Amino acid sequence: MDAIARLMTRAVSAGVIEPRERPQHFARGLHELLQKRGMAVYFSSVGASHVDLARAVRETPPDTAVIFIQYAPAWFGVLPLIVAVLRWRLAGRWVVLCRTRAPFDRPKQRLAYEVLRRLVGVELVGTESLEEALGSWPPERLPPAHRLAAGWRAERGPAPLAEILDLLRCPRCRAALAMEGPELVCSEGHRHPVVDGIPVLLPERVDLELDRHAAEHPAGDAYDAASHPGWHELGFHKRDLVARLLRRAPVPRASIDVGCGDWGLHHGIAGSIGRDLAVAGDISLDLVRHARGASTAPGRIHYLVFSAEALPFREGVFDLTYCSEVLEHLSRPEEALAEMRRTSDAGRAILTIPNEAVTGKLEKDHVQTFGYEAFQALVRRYLAVRRTLGVYLFVEQDIDALPRTLWGRLRMALYLRAGRFFPARSVNVIVDGRFRS
Ligand SMILES: [Zn+2]
Repeated sequence: MDAIARLMTRAVSAGVIEPRERPQHFARGLHELLQKRGMAVYFSSVGASHVDLARAVRETPPDTAVIFIQYAPAWFGVLPLIVAVLRWRLAGRWVVLCRTRAPFDRPKQRLAYEVLRRLVGVELVGTESLEEALGSWPPERLPPAHRLAAGWRAERGPAPLAEILDLLRCPRCRAALAMEGPELVCSEGHRHPVVDGIPVLLPERVDLELDRHAAEHPAGDAYDAASHPGWHELGFHKRDLVARLLRRAPVPRASIDVGCGDWGLHHGIAGSIGRDLAVAGDISLDLVRHARGASTAPGRIHYLVFSAEALPFREGVFDLTYCSEVLEHLSRPEEALAEMRRTSDAGRAILTIPNEAVTGKLEKDHVQTFGYEAFQALVRRYLAVRRTLGVYLFVEQDIDALPRTLWGRLRMALYLRAGRFFPARSVNVIVDGRFRS
């Protein structure tokens, strides 16, 4: 058994850290190889500074079990890298140091390296050749078994449409669908195109050339770290809270992300990806294409274009339904909830909304202005709610100003954590429950 096959008996998700100033074939080749073998891979190109490495540590998706670092003595600051490795280790990650044969210029580098190699799980030397470096991996040096390793089926190929064809239903009449050339056709004769392998299953006839939904929600417009550091941090905190909720239960059998946007839950949380089936979709082909293009989990996710108000699936398919920051965009959110319940196997649901009764209107295309009470009343008609959590207790309004100072960062950390206990006063509300059958 080769090194990656051995690794995959213990872990299914990895991070690959590449030095930004000196991009190396090794890191890129490793990234490609791990993805091809069916791992979820977080790839990050980072600079040598504390700030950059700290950002990479913060961004690392919660289920990432192993971190590969492409390393040469001159590429990273000595102390920043040691601190980053310590933080990864404290968060339970196992670190693989992939070192070039470059010599040490200074004794300080040599000393730092001796510290570093004692912190990592295994060291691979000679990264000029991927095969050679992986071949030098001692068979007995493996990370402790991660909880996802047993639940995930390893080495899955691409996700062919045929695999889910009998689960699909016509969004206009709910009849079964069959492939007919490049289209999906139902017994009533409703035709739905498949574009670049992505089925477009919308209830109304659409002109894909126009894709008005793409104009309304352009891809890649998510809050970026530089101009919205506070909202960025809030997003990570929300991601980590959802990951913690998911860790309380076994890996789902069949998962759906309703309204994945240009990113999607599976990018951040490998534990959200259904063992046998994983579906992600949104109403805009442009967004779905973007989500597929940026996917960290190749071959596991079926991407579709659909409307939350007319899900193109038969009854009782999913045991995890995730729908984040979508319901406020819909004129009929109760129809979307009814559709999610219909396609769920009385399974789990994790729903999130912006709490605009507290924050005020955040986006002009939010059709609904939910508050905590109104949202609870709505979802309780469909779900038995088990937990409601909040993200960021809304005490200070200028969220992006906080991360700019140390005192601000401390306050931010407090508000983020406090939100959990005061969802009614928080920026985001997360509801975790089970659909009523
Ligand atoms: Zn039909």
